[in-house]
Amino acid sequence: MNKLPADAFAASIWHNAAIPRCKQFLWLLHRDRLPSAALLHHRHIVESPLCAYCGEHEDQHHILLQCPPAKLVWRAIGWPAAPDLLDFRELWALPALPDETPPAVRSAIITAILWNIWKARNSWIFDSSLHSAATTVCNIAGDLRLWTYRVKSTLASDFLRMWAQQLHVA
Ligand SMILES: [Zn+2]
Repeated sequence: MNKLPADAFAASIWHNAAIPRCKQFLWLLHRDRLPSAALLHHRHIVESPLCAYCGEHEDQHHILLQCPPAKLVWRAIGWPAAPDLLDFRELWALPALPDETPPAVRSAIITAILWNIWKARNSWIFDSSLHSAATTVCNIAGDLRLWTYRVKSTLASDFLRMWAQQLHVA
């Protein structure tokens, strides 16, 4: 019997300077299991599969890349092509991060962005609190600054710190 093919994306999830909770979030995304309205509707947990913000079909792709508040965040951080991607994994191939970015840092930056877009969506749904793109960007920068202490190499921590700074002034 053939072995299962190696999961090429798994390294991006686990070799990642993000905190464990955020890596698990990325794993959920990879498995297409983020509890979006569409997924919860499919499981008969909620009545509507539509986005509470804009009324479109709300799957994880919509929440993270296509819903208007997410698009504003991608524009604010200077990655305006992100909403056009067909798959969130393509974020790893965008030229926004230079080639020499250490892989664990690349993954951490993208994870922090996705995580904070998801958290902003939840604030809107559960607390009726609408975060501005600037607030979400500040939260991304804050996470990256905290995660600086999770990497051992100076190169990696310098990269993370630099990105946190850049996002803060964006
Ligand atoms: Zn929406």
